[in-house]
Amino acid sequence: MPKKQCTRCKNWKACRKLTAKTHDWCYSLFYLEGFSLNADQSICLCNRCWFYLCYEKTRTGVQSENENTNDSNAMDTSVHEDQDQDQDQLTIENILFSGSSHKKCVVCRDEVNTTMITMPKPARLDLLVLKRMYAPHGVRCCRKHLWNNRLLPDVKINMDNRQTPMAKLEPTVLLNLFNDLLGLLQEASTAPRLDFMDPSMSNEDYLTWTGWTKEQFEHMFMLILSHIRSSSNREARNALAMFWIKLKTNLSFRQIGSLFNISGDYENRRKVVSRSFDSIRQVLVDKLLPKHLGIGHLSRSEAIDHNTSFSNEFFGKKVTIIWDGTYFYTGKSSSHEFQRSTYSGQKKRHLVKFMSLCLADGYCLDTLGPFFGTQNDASITNHITKTKNALMEWCEPGDIMIVDRGFRDIVEAFSDLGYEPKMPIYLPKGQKQHTTNEANEAQLVTKVRWTVESYHARLKKWRFFSDRIENQLLPKLQDCVRIVSATLNWLRGSIIKDHNTNHMDRLAKLMTDRLAKHNYLATLVEQGKLSTKQRWKKINEIDFDFPEMELEDLRQLFFGSYQIKQSQTYAEEHLDVNGDFAIQVSKETDEIIRCAIQSRHSNSTRYYAWIQFSLTGDPITSWYCQCKSGARTVGACAHEATIIWFLSYARHHDFQYSNGRRRIQQSIEKILSDEDEPDESNEFSAT
Ligand SMILES: [Zn+2]
Ligand SMILES: [Zn+2]
Ligand SMILES: [Zn+2]
Repeated sequence: MPKKQCTRCKNWKACRKLTAKTHDWCYSLFYLEGFSLNADQSICLCNRCWFYLCYEKTRTGVQSENENTNDSNAMDTSVHEDQDQDQDQLTIENILFSGSSHKKCVVCRDEVNTTMITMPKPARLDLLVLKRMYAPHGVRCCRKHLWNNRLLPDVKINMDNRQTPMAKLEPTVLLNLFNDLLGLLQEASTAPRLDFMDPSMSNEDYLTWTGWTKEQFEHMFMLILSHIRSSSNREARNALAMFWIKLKTNLSFRQIGSLFNISGDYENRRKVVSRSFDSIRQVLVDKLLPKHLGIGHLSRSEAIDHNTSFSNEFFGKKVTIIWDGTYFYTGKSSSHEFQRSTYSGQKKRHLVKFMSLCLADGYCLDTLGPFFGTQNDASITNHITKTKNALMEWCEPGDIMIVDRGFRDIVEAFSDLGYEPKMPIYLPKGQKQHTTNEANEAQLVTKVRWTVESYHARLKKWRFFSDRIENQLLPKLQDCVRIVSATLNWLRGSIIKDHNTNHMDRLAKLMTDRLAKHNYLATLVEQGKLSTKQRWKKINEIDFDFPEMELEDLRQLFFGSYQIKQSQTYAEEHLDVNGDFAIQVSKETDEIIRCAIQSRHSNSTRYYAWIQFSLTGDPITSWYCQCKSGARTVGACAHEATIIWFLSYARHHDFQYSNGRRRIQQSIEKILSDEDEPDESNEFSAT
């Protein structure tokens, strides 16, 4: 048969004639390429264009409307040059045959060079599944198309010069093909269900399963690779993955064994995963910890670099260490002694504790433990100062030790050792409120101390730590806590990244300036100079003038965004029309309002708060609240902040309840008792 012209590329090598009846998908692709064809017009194609279109069909997912019609029609109408001689050969229309040439890269068709390798089985399987192209055993390809023996999912297949018709396979070749295909299928069925060798695993996959990004995981893999004894890269990589999956998800070793398709019965699976877990743990303890955790890994001047604008301004440019205990729940034990020593009366649960030492920006200096749950922060710290000699030698007199009130019994010992302990002052029995000065000093400590809690929150994103820890894993807890802490230091770094910027410096300075500020409203209230006869109005119904402010002004006023975020939830709790309580406001003078607010922690406490404002000068000039820390002038208490935030900002910005939180609340059936009913009439008339 004389060759016809190819409708697509116009060369005279066409050997295939198609009609719309049988190959409507070809017409769709032609249409996409900009050809305009009538449905009754037939198409002639050269081999090259035909392969290209088949490839495009798979790639774009173009559907055939008569996919189910007997394809023998298509065979009849396609005029194949060798049709007559090829009666006993098989055609596989939807799968391209790469050709068996070993002279060119099967993917990009570059000439073979020394960097090319024989395409590994898993990559050939990928080629078949992802690209619908069959490449027989022995074909070669460039390394750059592969990752861990797998084909990169976004490689472009070069369709030029594909001369080998896929349609013509001799019976002997066919036999080989089937054997090979069965081999590939075998490979697929024994592959892990979750395979960290698979390049199509996304960043998101890595994050959900291990807690680390793909890149971070890669860094860790490089670190352990030369130290781990394993038969293959695959084994080492999956072992690292198993270690982190255990910590991130706290699935059982058996469950992880199933994810990785480990052969054998459950006991074998458990053993294999447990062994991998231990060998990775050991390598990380040896190779990672010395570099990224503990006093051995950084000098005192490097530690000072972790100070923030706030710690420098408030406490000086000295080594600043924040101490805080954190706990890990444990199971019950058959050993009575163990049982007793892990029971925390405070938490009413069995637990062990760790003592964390963070630098001001949230970088973890060290974490020590576990200690029994019966010990408190002060007794643990006392024990540390007496036994951890290397740490105590590293510290020097004059170092700032920041702690919370739970450490009050150790503060004196810290001073005796020459350190400068900083702790929010403890409210003595009988005293209801801190003085302005005490509350302000406490605020400085809080402003620096929060990063240690952030570090704990970060740590406990690895579910192993927030779940109850199985007793047989307790001996490994220390390693695990230290490994996660060190890796956080290494791969995520400090919690406050922009410490020591001009903006932060200015804010810190502003806070110290406010330290000495007198609380004007507190004095007025004390002296009984404010009249209290006005009528209460619900805060969301008030109509008097109050200065409008931007979020940035509020951040400046409260020295950060923490209280603004807190105000949102606080307001929801107290402004909700369905809620039992409301914030109520009354106007005392032209520039002072008084509010009544329900404490978040107890139903019986009700605080009054006063706000002084100005419509002409500085918008907010003074505040005072009756709660424990309501007298401060550096920052505000939650009550004061919520009221100011609502009146100056939220009500002008269409304050909305978070629907999610509201749904959660509404999903729980509420039982109202008589005492819970708010007493509408005299609720706030007492003062
Ligand atoms: Zn063509
Ligand atoms: Zn190539
Ligand atoms: Zn308050």
